[in-house]
Amino acid sequence: MPGFDALGLPPAIRQALDAMGYAEPTPVQAAAIPVLLAGRDALVEAQTGSGKTAAFGVAAVKAGSEGPGLRVVVLVPTRELARQVAEEIRALGAGSPFRAVAVTGGVHAEQEERTLGGDVRCVVATPGRLLALLEESKLRVDRVAFVVLDEADRMLDMGFAPDVEKALAALAHRAQTAFVSATLPPEVRALARKHLREPKEVRVGETHIPTSLTHFRLNVFPDQKERALVALLRAESPERSIVFVRTRDRAAAFAKLLKAEGFAADPLQGEMSHEQRRHVFDLFQRGTTRILVATDLASRGLDVPEMQLVVNVDLPDEDEQYLHRAGRAARLGRPGKVVSFVLPDEKERRVELEDVAGAAFAPYRLDIPEPKPPEPERRGPAGKGVRGPPRRR
Ligand code: ADP
Ligand code: MG
Repeated sequence: MPGFDALGLPPAIRQALDAMGYAEPTPVQAAAIPVLLAGRDALVEAQTGSGKTAAFGVAAVKAGSEGPGLRVVVLVPTRELARQVAEEIRALGAGSPFRAVAVTGGVHAEQEERTLGGDVRCVVATPGRLLALLEESKLRVDRVAFVVLDEADRMLDMGFAPDVEKALAALAHRAQTAFVSATLPPEVRALARKHLREPKEVRVGETHIPTSLTHFRLNVFPDQKERALVALLRAESPERSIVFVRTRDRAAAFAKLLKAEGFAADPLQGEMSHEQRRHVFDLFQRGTTRILVATDLASRGLDVPEMQLVVNVDLPDEDEQYLHRAGRAARLGRPGKVVSFVLPDEKERRVELEDVAGAAFAPYRLDIPEPKPPEPERRGPAGKGVRGPPRRR
């Protein structure tokens, strides 16, 4: 594999990579950087945690360094990801005349004005906020040359597509476009072609998620999920873990339960205020909290290198979501575990997901404790020491 020196990078970017401790390009960086630096449109697919951000980030910094004004727009699905991507691009642009900022909903007008003041070369935005800024004429995009859709398949699915289409139409003059994700299924590629000019397909690796992930299943009854989660987290004691549930209410409820059980846990879901979300995610990144109980809001793109364990308390409805949830662990080839709770009527879904993951889910061995007696005085000491039921597999 060629080193960064073989990729023809501007010296300032080369130095920034050194300062970031990136000694060698990852495979997707080695494959995509030359294509993007040559100005080609591209569809970039490579597994979760493989360094796709810097792959397009390097090209963003180069495009942004070529003159004043906003040159680069990166669209992402969530606020947390916008901040993370902007940070990585800022690091890559440290030695260049370069400002990259995140713009998302939920930020006060004055603060946003400050963020956008001065010579901003790159904006990392959620689509809704970008459109609002365009409508309010708070952002000039006539000089934008390079546009990236990160998590492109998510950005083109039903929820986001109308806004993304509008944003791309407003950026129709752009010279170059890249669509990036760990999962670019054929129907998305077909749709993407509408927006790309003779795109080069950069596809690295055979799998969407690292093979260093181990997949487990834990068969549970609905009323055992709480106790199973507590017992699982006690058994694993992960450095950092993300627990996925189906709804915002469940995220709040499970986080509350875990806190009551003494875990450093917080919820992350879309109903929380911008400030709450930001605070919760900062604490998690720093390791002050170790467990995040989240909806699929957190399934895309977030990079916390210490993440060791992903728990699917509720199975994902969409196949891709399994891959993206799982991919929050095992960043850049590190080991990681995914444990999925499977209800008695979810066996078929589990088999489908094994197919999606490309691996059978090994049974996870765990004694799920009996429920605590609701009124101890009525059950009395006789309730103590009763053995739980045999393990279910
Ligand atoms: P992806 O977008 O493919 O899921 P990220 O861009 O979030 O992956 O990168 C995953 C992790 O790898 C991040 O923590 C990032 O800092 C790190 N990383 C990226 N490129 C390199 C590199 N060349 N050398 C070392 N670490 C890297
Ligand atoms: Mg990414």
